Amino acid sequence: MHKLYTFGKYLRNKFKTNIKKVPISIPGFTCPNIDGKIARGGCVFCENESFSPNFQKEKLTLNLNSKTNPLLKKQIKALKNQFFNTTETYEKIYKSKKYIVYFQSWTNTYAPFDTLKTLYETALSLPNVIGLSIGTRTDSITDKTLQYLKNLSEKYEIWIEYGIQSSNDKTLKKINRGHDFANVQKTIKKTKNLGLNVCAHLIFGLPGEKQEDMLKSVKDTIDLHIDSIKFHPLYVTDNTLLAIEYKKGRFIPISEEDYIDTLIKAIKMLPENVSIQRMTAGSKNLLAPDWCKDKATQMSHIHKALQKAGIKL
Ligand code: SF4
Repeated sequence: MHKLYTFGKYLRNKFKTNIKKVPISIPGFTCPNIDGKIARGGCVFCENESFSPNFQKEKLTLNLNSKTNPLLKKQIKALKNQFFNTTETYEKIYKSKKYIVYFQSWTNTYAPFDTLKTLYETALSLPNVIGLSIGTRTDSITDKTLQYLKNLSEKYEIWIEYGIQSSNDKTLKKINRGHDFANVQKTIKKTKNLGLNVCAHLIFGLPGEKQEDMLKSVKDTIDLHIDSIKFHPLYVTDNTLLAIEYKKGRFIPISEEDYIDTLIKAIKMLPENVSIQRMTAGSKNLLAPDWCKDKATQMSHIHKALQKAGIKL
């Protein structure tokens, strides 16, 4: 019988206690797919200021060419505030005692090296933090940063989360990803050669993709010897290029049945050592699809489907 190997189980086995990831959004961080270095507008599903000038409450942008970073103090303060606000809640709800700081929003290796170093080390100095998880793009991490993270990994639990989304170059072009799958392969190979932990992020329901394309992306991603994976249905939020396509009737979101069917097949393909960090996503404030608006119901449908498929929770 196939067993569901969650990231929580991986952490519990390794650290013998519950460990929570604390999501952090660093003000002033951006993405080369938004600021014009690679493209403008971002991925079609990305909510960013290209579509709503007021999107970021605090309009800060890091000057990547400057040697000094005038935002650094503000960024450190924001990091600490978010951390302490979140852990206070986590301690009450989950009785968590140890944490991984998760640099989640934007491209968290796209900043001057000294800025990254200061922010990562600030995060690691916070109470009960055992490591970092850094969300980024495969075209936005330097060899110097990778080597530095490798050195940190000798003492801390370090994860790099790469957005892959699809292994199909036509899809990547359609969603304005700004890089191809060859770039993903090259960077993940380099990251794994350094012995770093890699989590891959895939999206099901991308424009024009059939189930066979989605499962091919799963296979191509597994072939990169990743350590963990996140699955996500493509949903539509306002302030995105996808919202425009959706409103014009040119994008039809994946149905819940098709998503869960693909998810179960994908989970069955995973090697035993690859943990799952996410099986779905959703929020109340979506344009579509409706089934993504209620995460609790989604999870209950997924659990039923897992049981039916003989996958033990
Ligand atoms: S890589 Fe991430 S932050 Fe950048 S445009 Fe795409 S979704 Fe947005």
